Amino acid sequence: NNTMKLSDLAMEMGVKAPQLVKVLMQNGVMANMNTDLDFDTIALIVPEFKWEAENVFKTADARAEETAFGDLEAESIIRPPVVTVMGHVDHGKTSLLDAIRNADVAAGEAGGITQHIGAYSVKLEDGSLITFLDTPGHEAFTAMRARGANATDIAIIVVAADDGMMPQTQEAVNHAKAAGVPMIVAVNKMDKPGANPDRIKQQLTELQIVPEEWGGNTIFAEVSALKKTGIKELLEQVKLLAEVAELKANPKRSGTGLVIEAKMEKGKGPVATLLVKDGTVEVGQYIVAGHMKGRVRSLTNDKGERVQSVGPGLPVEVLGLEAVPAAGDKFDIVKDEATAVEVSTLRKEQAEKSSATPNAKMSLEDIFSKV
Ligand code: GDP
Ligand code: MG
Repeated sequence: NNTMKLSDLAMEMGVKAPQLVKVLMQNGVMANMNTDLDFDTIALIVPEFKWEAENVFKTADARAEETAFGDLEAESIIRPPVVTVMGHVDHGKTSLLDAIRNADVAAGEAGGITQHIGAYSVKLEDGSLITFLDTPGHEAFTAMRARGANATDIAIIVVAADDGMMPQTQEAVNHAKAAGVPMIVAVNKMDKPGANPDRIKQQLTELQIVPEEWGGNTIFAEVSALKKTGIKELLEQVKLLAEVAELKANPKRSGTGLVIEAKMEKGKGPVATLLVKDGTVEVGQYIVAGHMKGRVRSLTNDKGERVQSVGPGLPVEVLGLEAVPAAGDKFDIVKDEATAVEVSTLRKEQAEKSSATPNAKMSLEDIFSKV
């Protein structure tokens, strides 16, 4: 990502710029005094002058990784899967997310009111957890992928049993396929008189989504979000799929993950919902989210409880950032203020560079036609 101007390189090496231009041309690279040279090009030509190129430029992500702290070699644990619900409008995404939220045994235990923070986790009867992104539809998913981030481990494709496959159903399937994310089809509205799950299986088979009972490898779970039937079974299938995926994380290292959503709130300042993908986030730690830095002032989970720390696979609302990051931004816990400044500065530079290139802003179609 980093470049050096030819004239600066010449100065640095103590050679005349035209000499560099000449060697570049011998190597098939047209250049002048003002050409920005990338590392690979520099490495190609400097041996000619008895120099060796060392890449001292660091990307922000590499710096964050290098300065990660905690027990980096600790044994990994299985983390909760992160699930996105997608599907055609009115097929019942919001209703299904609500029904799933109600199936949370922990919510019953605590008697708490669940907070809408952009993601929530449900506890199954055996104690295992599943995290759901609370933004149905494609927006969250594509915002993440536009930044090269993949928050989701499993996609639930909702199809209304009385309506069948629709354009956005196909789109959702394409999203999941493009991201390489395993999917489960939730055939919803099974309570409706016109419900015809076989027709949906038939239609999806045309997209190479073949049900297990037909010799394929996709689970079709029949549910009614309205009557809350089949929800437990659906969650059980998600759990089984997650077990196959063996999603592992090290809770003893410094936290890292993604911003799910963020906004400015009166009296609170920037409020961001983070999804911890690896490590643990603790109150008091320094953080960089996108290129916004800060210090974790408070952590609130999806049950509205203040917590001191949060581990991998879980969402949490964080206060203490100096400004609002964007959905899909990567976040890292860093060891001190100086590292926070360094990583945020590097990210800012990278962001400025990539926004200067014309194809930095991609539409949904761009993203998926590129994969
Ligand atoms: P979304 O646009 O995909 O989020 O769909 P919604 O969850 O908003 O649901 C659209 C409509 O379908 C609403 O009127 C829901 O009450 C209804 N609906 C959702 N799930 C079911 C279901 O299982 N059975 C029936 N009969 N209606 C449902
Ligand atoms: Mg909805």
